[in-house]
Amino acid sequence: MKLDRRGFLKFAVGGAIGTLATPIPWDLIDESAKFTDLWAPEPAKGPSSFVHSTCRLCPGGCGITLRLVEDKSGRDEWRGWHHKEFIQRRRLPAVPLRAVKIAGNPDHPVNRGGICPLGAAGLQLLYGTNRVTTPLKRTNPRGEGEAAWEKITWDEALNIVNGKLREIREAGNPHTVACILDNKKGLTAELIDRFFRAYGSPNVITMPSQEDVETVGLSLMQGTGGPLAYDLENSKYVLSFGAALLEGWGAPVHNMMVFGKWQEANEHTLVQIEPNCSITASKADKWLAVKPGAEAALALGMANVIVTEGLYDRSGIARCQGFEGFKALLESEYNPRKVSEITGIPAAVIATTARAFAVTKPAVAVYGRGQGVMSGNLAEFMSIYSLNALVGSIGARGGVVMQREVPFKAWPALATDAVALQGLSQPRIDGEGGEIKHGVSMAHNLTAALKSGAVNALVVHEANPCYALPRARKFEEAVAKVPFVLALTSCMNETARSADIVLPVASYLERLEDVTSAARVPYASMSLTRPVLANVPEARHPGDVFLTLARAMGGSVGSSLPWDNFEALLKEKVGGIFASRRGRIGDQEVAMLGSSDELWEGLNAGKCWYEEPIFGGGGLTFNPQGRTPRLEPVSWMKASREYPMLLVAYENINIANRRAVDTLPYLTKNIDNTVLQKHDLLVRVNPETAGRLRLVEGDAATVQCPSGRLSVRVHMDVGMMPDVIGIPLGLGHSNDDPFLTGKGVNAYEVLEPELDPVTGLAVWWGTRAKLIKV
Ligand code: SF4
Repeated sequence: MKLDRRGFLKFAVGGAIGTLATPIPWDLIDESAKFTDLWAPEPAKGPSSFVHSTCRLCPGGCGITLRLVEDKSGRDEWRGWHHKEFIQRRRLPAVPLRAVKIAGNPDHPVNRGGICPLGAAGLQLLYGTNRVTTPLKRTNPRGEGEAAWEKITWDEALNIVNGKLREIREAGNPHTVACILDNKKGLTAELIDRFFRAYGSPNVITMPSQEDVETVGLSLMQGTGGPLAYDLENSKYVLSFGAALLEGWGAPVHNMMVFGKWQEANEHTLVQIEPNCSITASKADKWLAVKPGAEAALALGMANVIVTEGLYDRSGIARCQGFEGFKALLESEYNPRKVSEITGIPAAVIATTARAFAVTKPAVAVYGRGQGVMSGNLAEFMSIYSLNALVGSIGARGGVVMQREVPFKAWPALATDAVALQGLSQPRIDGEGGEIKHGVSMAHNLTAALKSGAVNALVVHEANPCYALPRARKFEEAVAKVPFVLALTSCMNETARSADIVLPVASYLERLEDVTSAARVPYASMSLTRPVLANVPEARHPGDVFLTLARAMGGSVGSSLPWDNFEALLKEKVGGIFASRRGRIGDQEVAMLGSSDELWEGLNAGKCWYEEPIFGGGGLTFNPQGRTPRLEPVSWMKASREYPMLLVAYENINIANRRAVDTLPYLTKNIDNTVLQKHDLLVRVNPETAGRLRLVEGDAATVQCPSGRLSVRVHMDVGMMPDVIGIPLGLGHSNDDPFLTGKGVNAYEVLEPELDPVTGLAVWWGTRAKLIKV
C-alpha cells in the first residue's frame, strides 16, 4: 500500500480519533512490520505481552505500545553495522522476546492512541541492518577513501576518548573541543551540555531549528525565549504561514487529532500559506500560494487591513508597546496593493483573509516552515507573531502560549576549575547569536570553524550534520580536517563514517529516558522511553557513557556529574515534579500522590505527566530596540539571469529527515512514486514551467545551483508555483544502508544558507537554481 496524501490522513486521523479498528492503519502497520519480517521470515509465534513507552522519532512525543512476542523458534536473521562487511544471515538462538508491532497508546494525552507512519515503523530502527553493534576504531586515515574499521571493546574505546579529551584539557585548550547535538531538549542533552561546561568548552552546538529564530524574536518582543506553543484545538481560525501541520510540524499526531476534531465540528477554518500545494494545503479550507520569501510582507499586508479598518483587539493592544510606530509603518509601506505585487496574492484576497482572521475568535497565526528543522528570518517571525498581538491571541485560549517547563529538580551548581573557567570565557566557535547574542546555535558557521583549525576534537551525538547541514559535502570535507572525531550513534550514518571512534548507543526502544513536552502542544508533558529489549547488547545509554567519561576525567568534571548511572539522575530529577505538586499523571493529581516513588512507578508503567497551560495577559513590543518588523528581502527572491528559478525544499512525513535517526529503511517503500521512482528522485515543477523548458513527466534533468548540481527527474505538478522547483529532503543517503543508499539525491548538498541581517542565523530553505533537460 502506498501512503499517498489521502492515505496518510486516513491513517493518522483514524488512529488519532480512536478508530484504529479501521483496516487502513492496521494494514500500514503490518506493511511497516514486513521490514522486520525480512529479518524474521518465520512470523513470531508465542505468548504476547504489551509495554508502554514513548516515541522519540520526532519532537511529537507520542505514547506508544509495543507488542512483544515470546519467540521460542529461533530464526534466520541479518545483522551488522555495515552491509559490505558484516551483513549476514545466520541462525539465531531462540529469542526470548521479540517486538513485533508498535501502536499508539490510547491513554497518552498527546496522541490518544494515534500513531504516524514513522512511529509505527520504529522497529526498523531496532532491527535495522545498519545498527552499530560494537565500538569501532577507524584503521585508515579520514578523508582517504572508504572507511575501514576495527572492532574494539568499550574499555579500549573509552580509554582512547578519555586520553584525547584529557590531553587537550591539560594543554589548556578545552574550548577547542566541540560537540554537536540534534537539540538540547531532554536530560541526556542537558547532561552532555553539563559535561562539556564542566570540562571547559562552551561549544555544545545544536542542529538548526525553527526554535532558533523564535528564541531571538521572543527575547526581543517579550523578554522570554519560549518555547512557543499553539492552542490549535480551541482556535476557530488558523493562519498557517507554511507550517506543515499535517506533515510533521510540531507534534504531528496531535495535530492530526485536532484536525479530525475540526472536521467533525465543522466550525474551524484553516488557511495554509505556502508556495506549493502540500498535504496541509490540500486539506485546508483555503490555500494562498505566496511567492517564496514573501510571507513577512503578506503578514504585514494583513496587519495593515486589520489596523486601518480598526479590527484590532483594543484590550490586547493596551498590553503592547510600540503600536503607534508599527501602525505608521503599516500605513506607509504595506497597503494590500503593494503587498499584492510582492506576494503574488490579490489585494482583495489579502483583505478578506485579514478581516476573517480578525473577526473570528479565537484565531491564531502560526509561524513555521515545513517541519520546522530550519532556522528562519527574524522579520518573518516578528511579522507573523505581531498578527497574534493585533487580534488579542497572545496568551489566550485558542491562541499562542508559552509552554511551561517540566518542574524537574534543579541541577546542582556546576563545579568549574580554573581550566574550565578559562575555556568557558572563550567565544563560541559558531559565532553564537550574531549581532544579538541569545545563545542560539549557528551550526552553518561550523564548516568554516572546523576548516580554520580551531577545533581539536569534535563529538557528535545522535546527529548527522555531514548529511543534514546546508552544503553538507563542504561540512564533511571540513570534518576531515579535525584531528579527532567521536560519533555516538545507534546506526552508521554519513557523520559516523567520518569519525575516528564510533560508539554504539541504545535506540529509544532500548533505553530509559525522559521525553519532555511535545513540540508546539500547549500543555507541558513528560513520559519515558523504556528499555523494552536489548537487540544490540553492547549498545549503551549515551548518558551512561558521559557519566563514565566524567568519572574517568575526575576533578571538577567528575564532581559535576556524580550520578552512578542515568537512571539514578532521572529518578532524582523526577523528584522535583513530585516536590512541585504540579500537574497530573494519568488521571491522578500529583498533589494526591504519597511519594516520589509512586510518581516514578507511574511513569515506568507508561503513564504521562502533564500540566495545563496558564492563559492570560500576553503583550509584546512591536518595535523592540528599534527593530520594527519589516521586510528584509531574502536575496533568493531577487531575479537572477543565471539562475532564473527557485529551488524550495519540502519534507515528507515518511522520512525521518535529519533527526537523531535517519530515514527508516523500509519506509522508502511507502514513498509516493511522484517523489521517488526506484533510485531517481523527482522534483515538482509546474507544467507551464516544464513546458517552457521542454520537459515532460519523468524526464531526466539537472538542478544546477551556485554550490552544485543534482541529477533528478521531473514530476509535473499544478500545485507548484511557476518557476519554483520543489525538492524533497531526507533522501540521497550514502550511509551504506542497503535500503537507503543511492535512493534519490540529498537536497541539503546544494541548499545555500543566507544570513539573516539581524540574527546572523541561516535562512536556507530556498536557493536560486536552474533546471536543465538532460
Ligand atoms: S508523530 Fe512523531 S512522536 Fe508521534 S508517532 Fe510519529 S514519529 Fe513518533
